[in-house]
Amino acid sequence: MSPRAPIYLDHHATTPLDPRVLELVHQVQRDHFGNAGSAGHAYGWAAAKLVEQAREKVAALINASPAEMVFTSGATEADNLALLGLADAWEDRPGQVVTSTFEHEAVAGPVAELDRRGWRVARVGPDPGGVLECGSVEAVLTADSRLVTVMAAQNEIGTIQPLAEMGRLCKDRGVLFMTDAAQAAGRIPLDVQAMGIDLLALSSHKIHGPKGAGALFVRRRDPRVVLRPRQFGGGQEGGLRPGTLDVPAIAGFGEACRLAAEGMADEAARLSALRDDLWQRISTALEGVTLNGCPRRRLPGNLNFSVAGVPSHRLLAGLTTLAVSSGSACSSGSTEPSPVLLGLGVPADLARCSLRIGLGRFTTAEEIAEAGDRIIGLVRKLRGAAS
Ligand SMILES: *Cc1c(COP(=O)(O)O)cnc(C)c1O
Repeated sequence: MSPRAPIYLDHHATTPLDPRVLELVHQVQRDHFGNAGSAGHAYGWAAAKLVEQAREKVAALINASPAEMVFTSGATEADNLALLGLADAWEDRPGQVVTSTFEHEAVAGPVAELDRRGWRVARVGPDPGGVLECGSVEAVLTADSRLVTVMAAQNEIGTIQPLAEMGRLCKDRGVLFMTDAAQAAGRIPLDVQAMGIDLLALSSHKIHGPKGAGALFVRRRDPRVVLRPRQFGGGQEGGLRPGTLDVPAIAGFGEACRLAAEGMADEAARLSALRDDLWQRISTALEGVTLNGCPRRRLPGNLNFSVAGVPSHRLLAGLTTLAVSSGSACSSGSTEPSPVLLGLGVPADLARCSLRIGLGRFTTAEEIAEAGDRIIGLVRKLRGAAS
């Protein structure tokens, strides 16, 4: 983008490619056009090798084994494959599925479809900090519970859910545990073994990888999770996701996972400090600003707050030199208050006045200082004009 491009602070919606990933994607596009399924010649072998290298890197990010990773076009497809694939595998004996009230549409949509197919759906709300307590999940489990699906980190308020505790509960009760980790992956440590996760969805473009790639982790033992495919064709990805693989995107996704894992601890510390600095600036300069979601159990780069009396759409309209949002990218055209914020007990008038800010790998201290000034200046101007 040009030097006068807005400061990008919407990393929950998507992230810019890391230049190291871009270079690999370019190189693969140029030099390795082979079909990873062509087993008879060197073009195919080279492509297949790139895919398997990527599979190892993606698996390593969540402590899975490479054979447990199914490449998809993104987290939406991974979530759909998991949920509808399970429903199809258990077609003749639908049971109960437990989920949170604040899932991304990529989970909420297929769960609604399960509802239409005769599953019983229990939707459990979070505490006022935006964390789903394990006890609330336990309280709704029944004898025919088959699956608990709770996102790892919330995409609007960044709150981190107690995955290990839920995994343990599910294991005790013989229920599968799934998590949509599109926001959490690469930002906080995830471990499918330690956390007892059976199904986990990933998205490449949320971690500085290319768009059009993602993966589903499907546990192979203790227990072996069986899904019915959603589409049929060639035998790619163990028959779970047939179709010619997008080798450049997958290679880039793998590298993005490796880079995220490598820099995670330092990056988390850096982003938390920048985020805290931004909130410090805003909350000391302005009256009537409130943080939404728990201040501690949240993603390092996430800030979500409400500005009393100033609706989100006016904030966004005034902040043309900042790329921020009022909520999820999927609902950003809407002037309705965020259901996620309402679910925390944020009053509707404050939920209508929210701003979501997401920092990323290339966010600098200068940009944060600048963003703080612009937000503070705009709010003062809008409030001044209103009184
Ligand atoms: C972005 C996102 C998705 C969708 O991922 P795609 O790869 O864009 O399909 C799903 N779940 C969550 C929590 C997300 O943030």
